[in-house]
Amino acid sequence: MTLTVLNPATEEPIAELEQAGLEEADAAVARAKAAFPAWRAVAPADRARLLRRLAALVEENAEELAQIESRNVGKPIAGARGEVGMVAQVFHFYAGAVDKHRGDTIPVTGGVAATFHEPLGVVGLIVPWNFPVNIASWKLGPALACGNTIVLKPAELTPLSALRLSDLVLEAGIPKGVVNVLVGKGSVVGQRLVEHPDVAKIGFTGSTEVGRSVMEGAAGTIKRVTLELGGKSANVVFADADIERAAASAPYAVFDNAGQDCCARSRVLVERAAYDRFLEQFVAATAKVHVGDPADESTEMGPLISAEHREKVASFVDGDTAFRGDVPGEPGFWYPCTIVEASNDDRVAREEVFGPVAAVIPFEDEADAIRIANDTPFGLSGSIWTRDTARALRVTRAIDTGVLSVNANTSVRVQTPFGGFKESGFGRELGLEALDGYSELKSVFISTEE
Ligand code: NAD
Repeated sequence: MTLTVLNPATEEPIAELEQAGLEEADAAVARAKAAFPAWRAVAPADRARLLRRLAALVEENAEELAQIESRNVGKPIAGARGEVGMVAQVFHFYAGAVDKHRGDTIPVTGGVAATFHEPLGVVGLIVPWNFPVNIASWKLGPALACGNTIVLKPAELTPLSALRLSDLVLEAGIPKGVVNVLVGKGSVVGQRLVEHPDVAKIGFTGSTEVGRSVMEGAAGTIKRVTLELGGKSANVVFADADIERAAASAPYAVFDNAGQDCCARSRVLVERAAYDRFLEQFVAATAKVHVGDPADESTEMGPLISAEHREKVASFVDGDTAFRGDVPGEPGFWYPCTIVEASNDDRVAREEVFGPVAAVIPFEDEADAIRIANDTPFGLSGSIWTRDTARALRVTRAIDTGVLSVNANTSVRVQTPFGGFKESGFGRELGLEALDGYSELKSVFISTEE
């Protein structure tokens, strides 16, 4: 069956691809399995050199990759360039990490014990449509560095950048069969990877709902899983914060990537004493967000990914809004920046909207802020805005979430571990920590007895 890939800003087809079925999924796993013994035996310095070459090729082809991503996801081109820049950084980082993921020697009675990090074998990498090439690299980098071979399944809506990246993998000199891209339905080929006895691990990023089924499917073969799932993060603004700065940056904390961001700080919690002042400035800053043609250099927000997704996003907004922006006319799956005043019990504050809708919620004091921030099944990201350093530390430690920023919007860095608490998943990507997710720890006892 063919797959028609659309540009969400124009609704025009930009590619027709053949979709893989179960047979092709099994063949991709078989290719990865056959490539594993030689790939794991590549000397660390050589593997590092190949990853460095891949990073350099991403840099050389950055504009093309950014254009592909912009057209396929509807991302503003400036943002797409930043994301591709991060892909190169990720491969550089893990090239440098190949020979730094060291074992230990441990003195024990009668000899010494040594630990080794061994590759897992074939790993299945399943990625979503919101940051396709970026999230693929977060998994590919550490998986390749550790000596695994890979079957990568991009999302049905956005397979184009993964396909281009797989050309660059070969051009870099990484042997055939080490990285295999499988374009097909999650419920068919994704599920096959999850259940396949020759796949040792699934690195999954996507919705909490599908994450649950991945975990269930992996149980049959006791497969390792890393799950990076949904979020409903809080942007906590205390009255003692630099309100102007917090309000000016709040739109980018939730409307970036048209809100289709697992880290979106979509619950904006504001201390009552500063509530009106903050809301007024937040609305004014949001009114300035430039929504339009993703190819335009000055565009800050593009369309949503699909008509179906727009319908879901729209279902969250049924009453009064504090702000509703303008969008271009059709074609394109546009949805405006929207701010609603809410309670934390409202559906818009409880479920992941995954669109440009911010729920502003007042709180009374520090304890109330922590209570509301934690009153969610998710725990991925968040921000704290305050001038009080001790408070910043108290609150960041008390919020049950994997990554947080203080007086800033972003908490994703190549060098630092990223992942969720609670129903936002488990396991860590990025940083040196990701290497532990793509290797097994082996301990070997060596007797020193005569
Ligand atoms: P999704 O869960 O629908 O799909 C994710 C991937 O899983 C796709 O490649 C899909 O084809 C595949 N899939 C679907 N059904 C499957 C099955 N039964 N077995 C195996 N694979 C299957 O998610 P999406 O709509 O593509 O992405 C949006 C979601 O991703 C949001 O919930 C968002 O929060 C989450 N996300 C999380 C992170 C993170 O790092 N925590 C990052 C980005 C996106």
